[in-house]
Amino acid sequence: MHSIAIDGPAGAGKSTIAKRVAKELDFVYVDTGAMYRSMALYFLRNGIRPEEEEKIAEACKEITVSIEYEDGEQQVLLNGENVNAFIRTEEVSMMTSDTSRYPAVREKLLYLQRELAEQKNVIMDGRDIGTCILPNADLKVYLTASVEERARRRYLEQQERGMACDFEKMKKDIAARDEQDMNRTVSPLKQAEDAVLVDASDMTIDEVVAKVVSLYQKK
Ligand code: C5P
Repeated sequence: MHSIAIDGPAGAGKSTIAKRVAKELDFVYVDTGAMYRSMALYFLRNGIRPEEEEKIAEACKEITVSIEYEDGEQQVLLNGENVNAFIRTEEVSMMTSDTSRYPAVREKLLYLQRELAEQKNVIMDGRDIGTCILPNADLKVYLTASVEERARRRYLEQQERGMACDFEKMKKDIAARDEQDMNRTVSPLKQAEDAVLVDASDMTIDEVVAKVVSLYQKK
């Protein structure tokens, strides 16, 4: 099986790029952030606060996360319920970053993610795919862009979904989330030694897609 790992901070365009590359190469796109988001949704629904690590570890035992594809779009199932419509709010984003640092949460998803990569050719995006989940990926890309640009993209994306949002708050939230994701002890966000750095600040989507496809084909 072949695999491509795309890691990077929030709003760098990982999912947009990965989806397009998946189509071009006929790979399956796996969005790992959505899996962490579904777990965070479970904690929120059950009134668990981010600092309650023990309760979170206990709750992990009650959670089953799985994915399926509908018209080529990944759907995340939380204990059998399709939760795709509930996991993109800012509240869930922050809760996800707050809770994804716990080993119990990460362990839960590690096997699922590796298993998916064993079954199909995948392009997987997240924070620790190249450094931890798929250390032998055929290609590793670290995709980033300036905070300003990333906040602008997230803002437009939320607007398109018809969700109310405040640009300045979004910028602050993105910066806070990156800071937290980069500085946690377990599987922090960082560029793998063998990853190719792509700064998309001044690149179009088409350019980034072409770059990733050509990097893969050169391998
Ligand atoms: O990529 P997305 O914005 O959906 O990720 C939401 C959060 O999930 C991130 O801020 C990060 O805390 C967590 N995450 C992670 N490891 C991954 C993917 C996401 O810790 N592989």
